[in-house]
Formats: sequence, C-alpha cells, structure tokens
Amino acid sequence: MTDRSREPLAIDGGSPIRDDYLIFGSPDLREPEIAEVTDVLRSGWIGTGPRVHRFESDFASYVGAPHAVALGSCTAGLHLSLIALGVRPGDEVIVPSMTFAATANSVCHVGATPVLVDCDRDTHNIDPEAVRAAITERTKVIVPVHFAGRAAEMDALLALAKEHDLRILEDAAHATETIYRGRKVGTIGDCTAFSFYVTKNVVTGEGGMVTTEDEEVAAWIKVAGLHGMSKDAWKRYSDDGFRHYQIGFPGFKYNMTDIQAALGIHQLARVEECWKKREQLWKTYMEAFRDLPVFLPAPVPTGDKHAYHLFILVLDTDRLRMSRDEVQQALHRENIGTGIHYRGVHLHPYYAERFGYEPESIPNTHYISERTISLPFSSKLAESDVRDVVDGVRKVLLAAEK
Ligand SMILES: *Cc1c(COP(=O)(O)O)cnc(C)c1O
Repeated sequence: MTDRSREPLAIDGGSPIRDDYLIFGSPDLREPEIAEVTDVLRSGWIGTGPRVHRFESDFASYVGAPHAVALGSCTAGLHLSLIALGVRPGDEVIVPSMTFAATANSVCHVGATPVLVDCDRDTHNIDPEAVRAAITERTKVIVPVHFAGRAAEMDALLALAKEHDLRILEDAAHATETIYRGRKVGTIGDCTAFSFYVTKNVVTGEGGMVTTEDEEVAAWIKVAGLHGMSKDAWKRYSDDGFRHYQIGFPGFKYNMTDIQAALGIHQLARVEECWKKREQLWKTYMEAFRDLPVFLPAPVPTGDKHAYHLFILVLDTDRLRMSRDEVQQALHRENIGTGIHYRGVHLHPYYAERFGYEPESIPNTHYISERTISLPFSSKLAESDVRDVVDGVRKVLLAAEK
C-alpha cells in the first residue's frame, strides 16, 4: 500500500484524500429514535408531554441527580440557572474565555457582567487562580466549562465558592459522561447545564437539561421555562379536561418538545456504547499523531472520566510553515471537515469592545485560539473515515513541517 500521507496536497493540485466531504460533527442517529419520533408524530401530542418527562427521569438517573429539567437548549438552561442562583443585573459572573460564546452570552441575557478569565494551557479548563484573582464584591456565580469533556478543577473551585459565598453553575455542554474524582458531573455544582445540540454526545436536534439537588430551583426553572405558567400547565388540553393556568411572573418559552425527547431517550440509552467507540478513536488518534508538530490532549487524572466530546490538536506553529487557518483550509481541500473550539470569547467584537479586552490580556486563551483545531470525532465514523482523517492530517502537517 502506498503512503498517502506523502502525496501532494490537494491545495497544491494533488488529489484529495477522499472524494466525498467528511463533515465535522455528524450526529449518530439510529432506527429506535427514528421510530420513536414517528410514534410521537402519529400520537398527535407533539408538544411537551410524556416523553419529555420520561427523558427527564432517565437523565436524572443516568447522572444520579435528584432533579433534571429538560429545556430547548443548554443556553436556556444557563440563562434560567443564573437567575435561579440569584444573579441580577449589575452582578458579575466569572466565565472562562475559552468557551463557546453561549456561556458568556447567557450572563449578558440576565443583564449581568461576564468576567472572562484564562484557562490552563494544557487542559483548556478554567484556571482556579485566575478565578480567585477575578472575584469582587459583585461576583455571584462561577461558571466552569468541562472543556472537550475533561472535568474542570472542581475541588479548587468549590473551595473558592465556599470561601467567598458564591454559587457554581457548570456548563456541561461537552460533559454528559464526565466524572470528576469519582463524582458524576451534574451532581457537583449548584446547577449543571447540558446540551443536546446536533454536534454533542447526546443529540435531540436542539435541546438542553439542567440538573440540580435543589428542589425549589428545579421547580422554578420548570415554570420559568414555560411562560411562568403554574405547574403542569402543559396538561391543560389533555383528556383530564381543560384547566385554567395562572401566570406568576413573565417566564420564557424554553420548553423541550416530545419530538426532541423521543430522540433523547434512545440517544441516552446508547450514551456509554457511543462513548466506548470514541474512547477507541481517541486512542487511535493519540497514536497516529504522536510524531507530528502538535500538542496532543493531556492525560486524564485517575478517578476522572473524560467524555471524549472533542479531539483537539494544538498546532505547534513554531514548527510549521502554515497558520492554523491555512492548515484548516488545506484539510478542507482534502475533503476533511474540522472545527475550531474555540476562538476565545474575549476576541469577539462585542466582548472586546464593550469590556475592553485586549487579545493578549488573556494569554493562554489567545495562544490556544490561534492554534487549536478539532478533528471529526463522531461515533458514527466508519473505519475508512478514520483512516482518511489520519492520513489527511498527517499529509498536511508533514508537508507543513519546517
Ligand atoms: C454547545 C455549547 C453551548 C450551547 O448549547 P446549546 O444547547 O446549543 O444552547 C454552551 N456551552 C458550550 C461550551 C457549548 O459547547
């Protein structure tokens, strides 16, 4: 067999590694959820109903949390959790800059100020020392993100929260399967928000879930996510007869529907099976790229379980003749789709202009923002897809090596 990784790059006129385009982040949807969605459509009850309740209780038992509230997105979960945890306009919330914008946007939705802090360069997780330095009298909540599926330094963050009387809201959009020192993510902070967006480990199209130990918080989030209507108002058109509802406060329209939950129930039932596939894929990539001019993901501490949501290479650009964007473009021309997770929030115009962040003011985040690239990492990938990613990445990075 010829070594495809030594052939000319497609970007230089060579033939691409594959003929069809391998998209980044393809959902692994199978027949049971397709059948369940069809059942929902035939049942005539396509709004919030019994399947949402079933998905909530399945998710609560998977995580080991007493309460789980399904919502239309993780962003909705972050927004409502912040309010439930007492954040009000003018308060400050500490958020890593190395995250998806929704983590910080949700703080703005409350009218509070997101205070963006740096991450560790190896783990990409929020740096507890940077958090400590950012705490002021107006700080109410810390929002760690379990980056790529790797647990954040929760012991240090919990200690800071206790010392300064702060709440912790975990952004677990990457972290459905994550365990921190033997404790399941979703049972550690005051609230945890999960995402079931199309690229995430459990997919409902759009969707999210908040878990919490606090019954009142859970009940408030549920009501706030459906107009502020009195409890169980979703049943108002059921065969029990029409019921009047009461509006206690102007809530939001953040509910999940049974169509989404029908996907979630079966996706969740396979969550560990898909995780095992990605664990294998992780090992394959770690082995395949060890001699390249890149920084591979750091090892996982004992007692922790990585959710293996994203497989990220940080390009060692000192040893490359291409920038990250050029590498991404070269892979694109090889018909390999990739992602960027992320360009730091502080680099985006709204945050830079409104709060006056300079790129270098959050140095590790800036460093990673310019070098990070995420490879296709879905449990849906066939062996031939994985071979194409390996050969394509090797081809581009060997050609670009100084
Ligand atoms: C995907 C994502 C979100 C937002 O999730 P939605 O369900 O799309 O609202 C928030 N935070 C992080 C870190 C994410 O990756």
